[in-house]
Amino acid sequence: MKKNDIELLEYLDRLFPEPGCALNFRNPFECLCAVMLSAQTTDASVNRVTPALFEAYPDAFALSEANIQDVENIIRSIGLYHAKAKNLLGLSKALVEEYGGEVPMDKEKMRKLPGVGVKTSNVVGAICFGIPAIAVDTHVARVSKRLGYAKEEDEPETIEAKLEKTFPKETHIRLHYQIILFGRNVCHARGPECAQCALTERCRYFKKSSSRIGKKS
Ligand code: SF4
Repeated sequence: MKKNDIELLEYLDRLFPEPGCALNFRNPFECLCAVMLSAQTTDASVNRVTPALFEAYPDAFALSEANIQDVENIIRSIGLYHAKAKNLLGLSKALVEEYGGEVPMDKEKMRKLPGVGVKTSNVVGAICFGIPAIAVDTHVARVSKRLGYAKEEDEPETIEAKLEKTFPKETHIRLHYQIILFGRNVCHARGPECAQCALTERCRYFKKSSSRIGKKS
């Protein structure tokens, strides 16, 4: 690792010494459902609907036989609830039919389940089975580009590969959460808190916006 990379890990460790997943779940099945539901919505809003969902349908067997409208009614307050309800039933059926109701400990197999993409399988693989990965969501993509770990045009898969090549495996799971927290709390999409950030000297975004301000004045 280069000096800059080590400094980033140390900085994020100081800012977020206890990073972790903000979603509530009790087992891999609930984790998979919660992460899938969290697409394009907040973890807090998912946490508001999952207690009722998991009480009504405690496992893949129960959820696979659910009435889709009943599921929609439970998760109605989160975005894309119609498609997500369909995926919940679809993935539960697939888990029952192909894996005895259990979530497979294999990211490639998980990715074949309805509604489960690269990001969801990476997150669930990391949380439930300790499989190293840096899942790329909107925060990880933005921060990586600003700090020069990825190009503007890079797709999530490319960013993930670049980050995973740069940082040692044992740091991946922790770093993933720390970058998300950094993106949420400091390096916002709009109006990032650069004045309180220690990474300005190496930040492309900061340099660009400073030179714009310099030109105006
Ligand atoms: S300097 Fe600003 S834009 Fe750059 S990483 Fe820090 S908070 Fe984000």
